[in-house]
Amino acid sequence: MERRRLGSTGYTVSELGFGASPLGGVFGPITSEEDAVRAVREAVDAHGINLFDTSPYYGNTESERVLGKCLSQLGDRDAYVLATKVGRYGRDEFDYSAARVRASVVESMQRLRVRRLDIVQCHDVEFADRWQIIAEETLPALARLRDEGVIGAIGLTGLPLSVYPTILEHTAVEVDVALSYCHACLCDTSLADSGVLRYLYEKGVGVLNASPLCMGLLTERGPPPWHPAPPALKAHCAAAARWVTEHAMECTGTPVTIAELALPYAVRCVGDGRIASTLVGIDSHATLSKNVQALRAPLNERLLQQVLRMLAPVHNQSWPSGAAWAQHDAIPMMEGREGAREQGDGICP
Ligand code: NAD
Repeated sequence: MERRRLGSTGYTVSELGFGASPLGGVFGPITSEEDAVRAVREAVDAHGINLFDTSPYYGNTESERVLGKCLSQLGDRDAYVLATKVGRYGRDEFDYSAARVRASVVESMQRLRVRRLDIVQCHDVEFADRWQIIAEETLPALARLRDEGVIGAIGLTGLPLSVYPTILEHTAVEVDVALSYCHACLCDTSLADSGVLRYLYEKGVGVLNASPLCMGLLTERGPPPWHPAPPALKAHCAAAARWVTEHAMECTGTPVTIAELALPYAVRCVGDGRIASTLVGIDSHATLSKNVQALRAPLNERLLQQVLRMLAPVHNQSWPSGAAWAQHDAIPMMEGREGAREQGDGICP
């Protein structure tokens, strides 16, 4: 598995990262904890995946607990880079205060059975009432923990792309990592199109792209009931998923699902190498194997171009998330935007 530098953090991470929210049952029950242990072990030992991402929010701390159990069986703490989050604890439960940051980090370390955390990110920052809370309270609290050596690097996560420049331009803290989700995938390339990817990369912030399957929109099974996408986006993704299943054999000679197209597209075709790692949700050993296999297979250009055409009417459609301050467009804040759709235009390597 190719490894890439994560901004200026000093960490080198696998191009495919292990998204552990499904281990908290976020998308449905997992096969078993034994199967999760096997998935984590094989991810590290057989496939060279070394980045794991979780949060106390996922499954009401269950993802951290299960992941901690899995990682504890690896033995070598240096074999992986472990990322978790602070600030979001339930669907409508947020606390970005400095006091909660410190307590949350200690609790996460206990559940994850580690003595240090490599990356701690402010989770879904758009839900803070004001950006000043993140810039002036949450990030400084995390920076103190970084200074003390309790955590290695600090970051931000959120859906609206404008949150990154808004906060980074106004905080005195050096932010190491930005985790964006659902904005670098088959139906949405706005992370690159908006100029935010270039902005982050040029600042030396390590960029993580999460949810390359758009939280289930780009799967045969479809999204979970809680998925916030607008109906048109859901309908176009479902139609594209059906089309891939029905036409894969005639295009490639083997069965292919939309997920097996969407994952390599996100990893290889978006971002020109400026995304350090793509975090895909892994719920089982079987899902891990499918995804590693999908990354190794060549991308079928006919399938890809047809799916991009089918998704064009809803390209870069997203959904509102968080407080009013975070809802404005990131594009006017950037010096120049990159050409929309540029990554989908040619044959991906
Ligand atoms: P995803 O798009 O990676 O996956 C969506 C669903 O598809 C999951 O149920 C996953 O198990 C399943 N899946 C994976 N591979 C598949 C395959 N080959 N075929 C069929 N189904 C497959 O969405 P995600 O899990 O939400 O995102 C990945 C990770 O990124 C999360 O686990 C989390 O660590 C991180 N993330 C963070 C934030 C944030 O910080 N705000 C938001 C979203 C995701």
